[in-house]
Amino acid sequence: MDKKIFSLLKKERERQRWTLMLIPSENYTYPEVRKVVGSVLMHKYAEGYPGRRYYQGMEFVDQIEKEAISRAQALFGVPFVNVQPYSGSPANSAVYFALLEPGKDTIMGLALSHGGHLTHGHPKITFSGKFFPSVQYFLKEQPPFFDFQEILDTALKYRPKIIVVGTTAFPRLLPWRQFTQIAQKVGAYLLADISHIAGLIVGGAHPSPVPYADIITSTTHKTLRGPRGALIMVTKKGLEKDPKLGEKINRAVFPGLQGGPHLHTIAGIAVALKKAANKEFRAYAKQIVTNARVLAEELKNKGFSLVTGGTDNHLLVVDLRNLGIDGKEAAERLEKEGLVVNANTIPNDPRPPSRPSGIRLGTPAVTARGMKEKEMKIIAQMIADVLKKNQSVKEKVKALLASFPVDF
Ligand SMILES: *Cc1c(COP(=O)(O)O)cnc(C)c1O
Repeated sequence: MDKKIFSLLKKERERQRWTLMLIPSENYTYPEVRKVVGSVLMHKYAEGYPGRRYYQGMEFVDQIEKEAISRAQALFGVPFVNVQPYSGSPANSAVYFALLEPGKDTIMGLALSHGGHLTHGHPKITFSGKFFPSVQYFLKEQPPFFDFQEILDTALKYRPKIIVVGTTAFPRLLPWRQFTQIAQKVGAYLLADISHIAGLIVGGAHPSPVPYADIITSTTHKTLRGPRGALIMVTKKGLEKDPKLGEKINRAVFPGLQGGPHLHTIAGIAVALKKAANKEFRAYAKQIVTNARVLAEELKNKGFSLVTGGTDNHLLVVDLRNLGIDGKEAAERLEKEGLVVNANTIPNDPRPPSRPSGIRLGTPAVTARGMKEKEMKIIAQMIADVLKKNQSVKEKVKALLASFPVDF
């Protein structure tokens, strides 16, 4: 036995059991998913696509990949899905390489500091901003938080070939319809990156981009509760615009960017998609949002200031400027007490990204443990006790978690 790694694994398992997982991009997957992800499927090479492989021995894994694809098609209501991207960032890369000419075609996305993702054309330090010209749009402080006229003006000026809508730290519903109108006016593809909110969408707790976007990418390990992986989907609208869109995306994933698909992950995705199609998952998705709303209201009642004033989804961003501490310090103090959140920039943050002015909290994982409104009130009180009164809540955190065991 590998004592070193196995003892660290055991410690990490206990850490996950005995801390409040409040990072909105994290979640607990299902025991069945962990089982297939740790299975013999890991031994198999399968470059290519079902029925068109470059290897032998495909009898069963072809059926697994086909099943994952058809479950995703049914659940999201889309005609084309690729289940092979290794994770969210490679999925976005594949879309760009499928549709854009490097050095020529422009990506337009939400600025990282305003809640966009690195892969949305963030300049200088990411492939998306190095290989492709890129331009960013920004959030406004007042609803609807997007200035559609300004975004249209930017789009008309820079003529992006892809407009990306997707966020990692935006606590409101995404206005798909307005973005599709802008994309149409400039002849751009609309890419909806639903990595954070895929579970909410299939659970009926956030509007779906399917009628509006041409292409949809998503991670599978956030609100969807699957293994680390990703999906690329093409909508009916996308296929009407370009009937070859699916083929282009398949070719960009393999052989364009990847080799053999991770069949263990693909099987895990299939299992998670089946779970997400259940009635219980709808209740779970709704409870995530209810919990986030309660957490937001309670924090506001205790004098915390929230970016956009609250939440409609699974996450909230606390602006700490009125407390005189930065996000990093707040996150570190909370972690010592067993509440795991992350430091996060706020729009127009006066501080550097390494010590931003906010923290980001989410409810997917605590909701997966079975927590409801009552527990959100307790968590809000604990956050206030730590950050405002410098009190220790370690024992209270343990007591709360003891009532909501996890299955691992
Ligand atoms: C998480 C996320 C990604 C990237 O996913 P990785 O699996 O970390 O590569 C991309 N886009 C958005 C909006 C995300 O939230």
